[in-house]
Amino acid sequence: GNWGPNAIFRFPKEGGTGAIWKGVGKLLPKDKQSYGPNMEVVSVDKDGQIVTLKDGSKIKYKALLSTIPLDIMCKFTGRPELSHNTTDGLFHSSSHIIGLGIRGECPHGLKCWLYFPEDNCPFYRVTIFSNYAEKNCPESSKKLPTLCMGDGSDVPDNLKGDREGPWWSLMFEVSESEKKFVKQDPVTLGGSAGTWPDVVRDTIQGAINTKLTDAGCEIVSIYHRRLFYGYPTPSVGRNDVLDEALPYLKNHNIWNRGRFGSWKYEVANQDHSCMLGVEAIDNIVSGAREMTLEYPDIVNKKKNMDLLYSKKGSL
Ligand SMILES: Cc1cc2nc3c(=O)[nH]c(=O)nc-3n(C[C@H](O)[C@H](O)[C@H](O)COP(=O)(O)OP(=O)(O)OC[C@H]3O[C@@H](n4cnc5c(N)ncnc54)[C@H](O)[C@@H]3O)c2cc1C
Repeated sequence: GNWGPNAIFRFPKEGGTGAIWKGVGKLLPKDKQSYGPNMEVVSVDKDGQIVTLKDGSKIKYKALLSTIPLDIMCKFTGRPELSHNTTDGLFHSSSHIIGLGIRGECPHGLKCWLYFPEDNCPFYRVTIFSNYAEKNCPESSKKLPTLCMGDGSDVPDNLKGDREGPWWSLMFEVSESEKKFVKQDPVTLGGSAGTWPDVVRDTIQGAINTKLTDAGCEIVSIYHRRLFYGYPTPSVGRNDVLDEALPYLKNHNIWNRGRFGSWKYEVANQDHSCMLGVEAIDNIVSGAREMTLEYPDIVNKKKNMDLLYSKKGSL
């Protein structure tokens, strides 16, 4: 079948997807980069063209390229009426990311990611993360204790103590919005697995229901994180808000761009978001058109001829 642009992709040998962007960051002058909680923008004076950071410091700008979610930027700049999280406007979902590390050989061959529309599990997608890079799991010789069994129950005495791998892992994604409730009350799992939001327990059970794991497998690590801004959900009223908010901000020399910066799901993956930034800078410097923002249909149909995957000597 035609697997489209995702049929072949590259992935860092170490450090996950974030390693790509840390690598890009290394190409830029170090003294021009600052990260961390103190760098949070807490207000924007659109008329004076000054941003105020959490630590109280102020930065004056001529042109501001921002990835701050558009609803927040509208509030910062005096247009809160554009920022409502409704299906008539800037609607979004949140994402729960749940990770499980499991002892043993991965039983799913070379599968990468799978979708689950059924209602026997809370997740819509699973990534077999251990298949992406060897270093996504510890070495087989590393000794780890089993936290709980595959159904979240206690560990029997004969499986207690630190033992070697091999290891494999699963990353689950669960969506949440005011239209889709996710159980998050704390629940305590068996063994030494500890206390987690209920969605983790539901995910562990869902993994069994969908035959990704079984009750007898050994879970050696658990991860959960909720991203408030998960997906910028396309809605009927979205473009009306974008058509007003983005030019309004640009008139004040603010280029709000990126997954939630410009809130266009159809151009909100990493490659898109990178190009939204590149093209915004070209627009600031030379007035060039921002193709990714303005013409998603055109850029999404275009084949990327810069990256040609071929065997050595076959060209
Ligand atoms: C569950 C999930 C799965 C995904 N899977 C894929 C995938 O398989 N492939 C793919 O290409 N993409 C995927 N994406 C999308 C990818 O994460 C985004 O395309 C990318 O992160 C967007 O980059 P960005 O810079 O626009 O936004 P972000 O990465 O969200 O960065 C915005 C930045 O702005 C900062 N910020 C916000 N408010 C403030 C403030 N007030 N002051 C200072 N800083 C602020 C945030 O801290 C953040 O660092 C996925 C996203 C999710 C949620």
